[in-house]
Amino acid sequence: MNKSKDFLRRIVQEDLNAGKYPQVHTRFPPEPNGFPHIGHAKSITLNFGIARDFQGLCNLRMDDTNPTTEDTAYVEALKDAVEWLGFKWEGNVRFTSDYFPEIYAYAIELIKMGKAYVDSLNDEEIREYRGTVTQEGKRSKYADRSIEENLDLFERMKNGEFPDGTHLLRAKIDMAAANMKMRDPILYRIRHAHHFRTGDSWAIYPLYDFAHCLSDYIEGITHSFCTLEFENNHDIYDWVLDTLNLTPPRPYQYEFARLNINYTVMSKRKLLELVEKGIINGWDDPRLPTIAGYKRRGYTPESILNFCEQIGIAKANSMVDVAQLEFAIRDDLNTKVPRVMCVINPLKVTIINYEGSEEIEASYYPHDVPKEGTRKLPFSKEIYINKDDFSENPPKGYFRLTPNQPVRLKYAYIITCQEVIKDANGDIIEIKAIYHPDSKSGSDSSGIKVKSAIQWVEAKSAKKVELRLYDRLFKDEIPEGIEAINPDSLKIIKDALIEPAVITDRPDERFQFEREGYFYADPIDYHDGAPVFNKIVALKESSAKKKKAPKTAERPSKKVQIDGEVTPMTAEEETRFEYYTKELKLNSEVANTLARDTKLSRFFQEALKIHNSPINLANLISNEVAREFKQKESLTFTPIQIAQLVKMIDEETISTKIAKEVFEAMSKSGENPEKIVQEKGLIQISDPAQILPIINDIIAKNPDNVAKYQAGNKKLLGFFVGQTLKATGGKANPKVVNELVGKRLGE
Ligand code: ATP
Ligand code: MG
Repeated sequence: MNKSKDFLRRIVQEDLNAGKYPQVHTRFPPEPNGFPHIGHAKSITLNFGIARDFQGLCNLRMDDTNPTTEDTAYVEALKDAVEWLGFKWEGNVRFTSDYFPEIYAYAIELIKMGKAYVDSLNDEEIREYRGTVTQEGKRSKYADRSIEENLDLFERMKNGEFPDGTHLLRAKIDMAAANMKMRDPILYRIRHAHHFRTGDSWAIYPLYDFAHCLSDYIEGITHSFCTLEFENNHDIYDWVLDTLNLTPPRPYQYEFARLNINYTVMSKRKLLELVEKGIINGWDDPRLPTIAGYKRRGYTPESILNFCEQIGIAKANSMVDVAQLEFAIRDDLNTKVPRVMCVINPLKVTIINYEGSEEIEASYYPHDVPKEGTRKLPFSKEIYINKDDFSENPPKGYFRLTPNQPVRLKYAYIITCQEVIKDANGDIIEIKAIYHPDSKSGSDSSGIKVKSAIQWVEAKSAKKVELRLYDRLFKDEIPEGIEAINPDSLKIIKDALIEPAVITDRPDERFQFEREGYFYADPIDYHDGAPVFNKIVALKESSAKKKKAPKTAERPSKKVQIDGEVTPMTAEEETRFEYYTKELKLNSEVANTLARDTKLSRFFQEALKIHNSPINLANLISNEVAREFKQKESLTFTPIQIAQLVKMIDEETISTKIAKEVFEAMSKSGENPEKIVQEKGLIQISDPAQILPIINDIIAKNPDNVAKYQAGNKKLLGFFVGQTLKATGGKANPKVVNELVGKRLGE
């Protein structure tokens, strides 16, 4: 492990080299006023990780100076989070409240030095006297109280003689300080409140600024890491320790950037609101970014640790894409967990030519995974497949079972649909099919071509399971409040069917349900006889970001199917289809769409005459242009303009991504593509001299990912390429970027 991979580790390394401390000693100091979240995970991995990397120690300290919001349940949740992430704190769990007597003694010392005084202004006066950034503050008249008077008042404050808000203890520093925090900061306030650990023994409580640095000192902490919002408190930290002349070595404070994730709220206060209002089901609701939530959902500690490592430690705040966290869990589970079959929305299939039963042995893991293990899949005449895996009127590009298209049952046989049975409402309730005995997976000699394999379960042996499908809790990238809650964040499916081995063998707690996602046996609600699985994450990054084509475009043109029957092609269509697939090498889906549509095929042939690029033209015409034909009376553009657009792609003037943008503009304005590209400044950037500085910048900002790439994680190439493309608004030439990034990282 590279110990000096981030700026905090470099500081620690230098201090150790210089002999400033014999051993590094950090602490994780949460306030027990809510459940820890993924931001705390970052702080935990940082503090405990640095201690581990430098053979040091790390304390777990509850920063419990606010009696009204704290609770032991939160203490337990914090301990659990640290342990779950695999760390061990030094000694017992510490509590700032354990140091109240010592902190009180330090306050008395400051008073005796003339460095602290009891102030009796009210809140409003205090605010007023503090001044502004541009205006000096004014010291309270009470600052002149004698040491004796201050000692007397402070003791009586402690004994509970005064009501809340009547007096404060303040440090006597500088009411004109540029750093407003240094304008006689408050050290103690009166609080007649019951504390969950010290009960009613204190009527005064120290503030963070006073308690934190002293707790660090008392525990022998060397490096006190905190988030950037405490940057201005740094001076108080030093002032207190220096003024008290504490014997060295003493701790120093260093700030790092807080973790923010899009589509996520992180503050404990906001999370508490969700819990209290019952918007989610408690602190461990799998939709929450709490450690308890991730744990319940099925995230592994490794995935959280990897995520924290990938995002690194920086000095500037930034927003991390939630997709990066999802990547981390997917990446972790991909090679670890068994793959099994679950049918989420069952449709019965009766295989009319199959008699008896058999068991098919199937591996839990794909062959490229270093794990082994198999199970038996019962097979018989009656099975269930997913409703979505059959289509009577298949949209373009549909590869699964249709009345005319056979499909493979994964690990088993190819089946062909014979009959579609519907209920009185016209809903499909059963498929009658035949299987092909010589098509068994692994020994297929049937010669039948299929385009995909689907999951299935055998009817009698399958077990019913409840699935809880989670989506993002918030709709907005930066959620402002509960108005941004996604109403579809939880979907419960009561009667999915799963292959029996998952329940009876229980080879793991986490599974990949083939083609559906990663799932976790709910640690609380799962019972024998009533199994419940939480969806951890989908198999692929959600397509929310990808542009969704309007529904109409997904439907095949009316000509293709009548009443569920595929219309045979006319001789003319057939000739076109042959020509497109054989001569022009179009794939059969695209060729099918174009060949069956006279208007589209004519458009295509016109465009071809201008620019001979069959595949790129056909793709654009069978998708985008076809959509326009369906939605509009007449087109705003001509085949010539489409040919020009494709020519720009082929000449690498623009990327295919930008081409889509140009197309949208053409469909609105009918403008020439060249003109749109010129006006919007969309020309593809292929000049290395222009791209390299951007790459250099991204490399400089992501030292951790560079180190990981160079240590062998070549997958991160995609990360750098993606960032570069993003930084250029999609204008950089992906090929050039790929090459340059590869070269730069290889250096
Ligand atoms: P919240 O605003 O969520 O209540 P906090 O900062 O008040 O968070 P604490 O319990 O006081 O939470 O924090 C414990 C430690 O965790 C502190 O050192 C704090 O800086 C750190 N921490 C809290 N949130 C984050 C975050 N989002 N990213 C990194 N560190 C964090
Ligand atoms: Mg807080």
